[in-house]
Amino acid sequence: MDNKAIPIAAIQHYAYCPRQCALIHNEQAWAENWFTVKGQVLHQKVDSGEPESRKGVRFERSVMVNAPILGITGRLDLLEVEAASRTYTPVEYKSGKSKIESWDRQQVCAQAMAIEEMLGVTITKGALWYWRTKRREVVDLSEELRSETLQTIQILKQLFESQMTPKSVVSKKRCKACSLIDLCQPDLLRNDHSQDYWDSIFKS
Ligand code: SF4
Repeated sequence: MDNKAIPIAAIQHYAYCPRQCALIHNEQAWAENWFTVKGQVLHQKVDSGEPESRKGVRFERSVMVNAPILGITGRLDLLEVEAASRTYTPVEYKSGKSKIESWDRQQVCAQAMAIEEMLGVTITKGALWYWRTKRREVVDLSEELRSETLQTIQILKQLFESQMTPKSVVSKKRCKACSLIDLCQPDLLRNDHSQDYWDSIFKS
């Protein structure tokens, strides 16, 4: 995958679990579960909407973005465009609920930065819309979030260039919700101490 643009969706995959990200993007592994199907149904609903304008705001659905300098590409669920002030707000739809972790916010931030690169504008806010709680959350595109997102993009470039799949697994709670659990076999990896063995040899 070297020299290819990073899919923006990979940012979220990586933030959730680096191994999951590598399985999907380096090994092209995929499996569905209740959560992924629910997410697909939601995105189909959002994508099927027609572009419309209300109160000076145009709502563009399924917008493709490609930012060669950042090296990222992807598709936005929704882009709100306020023509008079040239204000652009990317909106990402999620089936779950708001999270403490920043992975959803990083995804929106990458979308916003891609639009900034493409259109030469500055975007200060994005939004997340959570289906389960029916809540819209404003995403403040702070310097901190931008730098966190750029860092993840950098790590992803290295991960994809290496074509390696990390063996480290995340918490059991995350694995339970992961559609790749049967392919990944995290419990076997948790019990596999061969890496510790090799580490101990090199450290001694
Ligand atoms: S099962 Fe767990 S460790 Fe394996 S890919 Fe999924 S989240 Fe990551």
